[in-house]
This record gives sequence, structure tokens and C-alpha cells, in this order.
Amino acid sequence: MDAEAMSAELSALVGKEQVLAGTSVARVYDCDAYTIDRSSPTVVTLPRSTQEAQTIVRWCAKNQIPFTPRGAGTGLSGGAMPALGGVVISTKRMTSILEVDIANRRLHAEAGVANAAISKAVATNGLHFAPDPSSQAVSTLGGNIAENAGGPHTLKYGVTAPHILGLTMIEPDGNILTIDPGPTNSPGPDWTSLIVGGEGTFGLVTQAWVKLTPIPSVIRTFLAAFKTIRDATECVSAIIATGVVPAALEMMDANILVALKAAFGLEYPEGTAALLLVECDGELSEVETECAEVLACFARTSAMDVRQAADEAERQHLWTARKKGVGAMGRLAPTIVTHDGVIPRSKLPEMLETVYAVAAEHQIGVANLFHAGDGNLHPCFYFDDRDPRQVEAVVQAGETIIRRCIELGGSVTGEHGIGVEKADLMSVMFSPQDLDVQMRIKGIFNPNSTCNPCKIFPNQKGCVEHMRRWRGIAW
Ligand SMILES: Cc1cc2nc3c(=O)[nH]c(=O)nc-3n(C[C@H](O)[C@H](O)[C@H](O)COP(=O)(O)OP(=O)(O)OC[C@H]3O[C@@H](n4cnc5c(N)ncnc54)[C@H](O)[C@@H]3O)c2cc1C
Repeated sequence: MDAEAMSAELSALVGKEQVLAGTSVARVYDCDAYTIDRSSPTVVTLPRSTQEAQTIVRWCAKNQIPFTPRGAGTGLSGGAMPALGGVVISTKRMTSILEVDIANRRLHAEAGVANAAISKAVATNGLHFAPDPSSQAVSTLGGNIAENAGGPHTLKYGVTAPHILGLTMIEPDGNILTIDPGPTNSPGPDWTSLIVGGEGTFGLVTQAWVKLTPIPSVIRTFLAAFKTIRDATECVSAIIATGVVPAALEMMDANILVALKAAFGLEYPEGTAALLLVECDGELSEVETECAEVLACFARTSAMDVRQAADEAERQHLWTARKKGVGAMGRLAPTIVTHDGVIPRSKLPEMLETVYAVAAEHQIGVANLFHAGDGNLHPCFYFDDRDPRQVEAVVQAGETIIRRCIELGGSVTGEHGIGVEKADLMSVMFSPQDLDVQMRIKGIFNPNSTCNPCKIFPNQKGCVEHMRRWRGIAW
């Protein structure tokens, strides 16, 4: 069915304002924030409710047309790319907060609501939604659920999964599955957790119940500068070894500081090779004890400069390097690919040396800003994607780094998911039996792979040739 016919049929069902097609639409929705793999949708739909979304999914099922759920498109592994074309279902018009239940510290919202909007809605009640991906100003609840997103405060508060209490999902056949938030310790399997992290391959989540967490009464924030990467990574290990679990423990390297200077004129101490942002929160006495331990670790690992935020304005200022770092990298090159792997924290010094060596070998720029406390690495390669040599170098370098993470006892992804980017690396980490079990679970919900095809698993029928094209590589 061509775009005109699809648009006409879908417009008749949900209204023409909810259906987009055409050259510019195909271009805008052909990737997420992983921009080196692209594939255009035939049409894009913007349902306003679970019922409209169900109508669209039912139509896709009846016509055997693939569909791809999409939130804000900030994903970093190609998850929202419509790999085989078809229909993109965007949740961007489903942004309502449906119920705020302060007594039970929970909130019910539509999937398209931005992460930060949830916390904003309950801030006056002294509560917030703890998962805080750095994209939180725009990334959606549905996208956070699909990717089981982490963030700077994951170290203490955990990733998205434990904060999702229930959800509504449209299965690929159009059936609506509702998992209500049960009482704490409900018997039986935790079905919600099965769906969280499914990268949109189980169905389209349209609503969710989230847990609300008290805003800590005391927050202390430090920014420490180190002369060498090794000093900074040793400081991370030292802090963790004390038993203190900071709310955040983030690292940025010198190349990020170059970008921040170019973009925003921000200055950091001369000779800084790495910055550590450390935040402790909780009750006053607990925070004071933790801060004393952290300061002792800074001293033991030769921090050359330590700044402490005196108030909220200064705290926001200290966070600038972390929060604006990726955006600033636009000053270094036209394209950025942010990789994502995880390793045991004790392997950080060795792993970072590998990252710099691999980038140098492939002649591409790399900067690092990442959730050091979780051992969650984000090498950001900066390059020009108009040059096929550089694209190939980035793909090869990324693969080498992820293989090394796995060798060091880590994982193929820390928080950005597999998408299309790492589908062919799944078999490095998992045995054929493991992959078979995972695919069978997906098959319960999505037996014909009509929902978000070609994602997560390698060698799926109809997808292999596309993967070669997306990567631009002659294998
Ligand atoms: C600057 C920047 C910083 C980032 N920082 C972090 C970080 O700190 N931590 C982190 O974990 N990630 C981070 N990310 C990655 C990204 O923001 C997260 O993965 C986020 O959860 C994606 O949300 P989204 O709404 O943009 O989803 P999209 O990119 O639109 O989609 C992501 C995946 O979710 C699926 N999906 C989206 N909505 C639904 C739905 N309603 N139902 C079912 N499936 C759905 C899509 O099909 C796709 O597979 C960052 C990205 C950027 C660009």
C-alpha cells in the first residue's frame, strides 16, 4: 500500500490532523539520536488517546503493516527508527497527567508526557519521579519505560523499572493489556517489569502508573578536578569502596571541557584531565558523614581543585558541565555517536585507556562523560557522517569497545538499549539458547514482528540486508 492510500485509510479512522506523510515527514522521522542508521516511515500518526492508538494498531495488524512506537526520538541506539518503513506511532499528543495519588505516592500519566513534567507536577508536594535521564526535559515516559532508562541519580535510586507500578499497553494485534498497580508485595510474577526494557518490541505503551519519591531534604554537590584520568577513576573506586552510595557520581573528560569552552565560554582549572561531579543527599547527619568520606577520597587521590555548591544556583552551575556537555559537542564536529557500555567500576581506569587507544587507532575524536559510579561508560565519538570512512571507523571502534566491555565482565549496554545499533553484538554476549528464550518471550506478544521489527535480535528474517545498508558497510 502506498503512502497516499495509507494516509487516506488512517485519516478516515482517526482524522487527517493525526496523520502525517510526505518528503519532509519521511526525513524528520527516519532516525532517532543515533543518526547513522536511517529508514523512512511511510506515514506518521499522532494519536490523542489510547483508543485512537488502538484503532491505528488494529489497522496495522489487519493490513500486516509494521509499526514503530516513538516518543521524543532521543534514543541512542536506533530504537525508534522505522526499520521496515510502515507506520510510526508517536505519543507526542498523549501528554496528560491522569491522576495524582499523593496518599499512595503514585501518579498515572499518558506515555507521551516528558519525564521532567512528572516531577514538576508534584514538586510542591515534596515528591519527584526519580529516574532522570539527562534527556529528561524532552524524553517521554513511554520511551523511558521502553529503554529502562537510567540517569545521573540511578546509582542511588535505580533505573526506571522499580519506579513503574503498572501500565497500559496495546499489543501488536490491537488488544489492550492493562496491568494495574497492585498492593506492595503482590504475589506472582512482576509482569510490569517484563515489559519495561522491551524497547517497544512488545507493544505500544499508552499509559503508566509511576512511583513518586520524596525530594531529599539535604543535597550537597561537589565538582572535583583531577590532573589525570587515572586519578579520577581511582577516586571513583575509592568512594565506592568506602560503602558510601552517592546520589550521583559522574565523570567528564578534558575533551568535554574543550567543547564547553567553545560553546558556552565555561572555564575549568588549567590542566584538568577529568572532572568528577559527586552529589550526596538524604537526612543531614547521613549526608554530612558521606561528604566527609567523599572529601577524604578527593584528598587521597590528589584532586587538584574541589568546589562545593553553597546554594541551589551554584549547584545548577556545577551541573552545567554534565548537563550541557553533549550539546556542546556540536562545536567539535557535525555528528556525534554516543556509545554505551557497562563494566565493573574497578575496571574503569583500564577501560578508559582502551577507549582513547581505539579512537586514536581509528583516527576519530572521542570525549567521555558518563555515569562513573555505575561503571556506565559513554564514549562520544565526534566525526563527519558525510565521510563514509569516518562512519565505518565509528562503527568499528564502537564494536571494539563493546567487545572489551563484555570481556571485562560488563555488558553490551548500560542504559541506551540495543535497537539496531547493537543487534549483531547480542550474540557476543548471549548464547544461542539465551537468545532463543528472549525471542520466544518477545514472540508471545509480537509473534509476527510487526511491532518495531529488526530491533534487539540479530539475523531476523527480512532485516539482515537492511542492516548492511544502514551501516553503510560492505561486509
Ligand atoms: C542528550 C541525551 C542524553 C541522554 N541521557 C540519557 C541518560 O542519562 N540515561 C538514559 O538511559 N538514556 C539517556 N539518553 C537516551 C534516551 O533519552 C533514552 O533512551 C530515553 O528513554 C528515550 O526516550 P524517548 O521518549 O526519546 O524515546 P524514543 O527515542 O522515541 O524511543 C526509544 C525506544 O522506545 C520505544 N518507545 C517509545 N515510546 C514508546 C511507547 N509509548 N511504547 C512502547 N515503546 C516506546 C521506541 O520504539 C524505541 O525503541 C539520552 C539521550 C540524549 C540525546
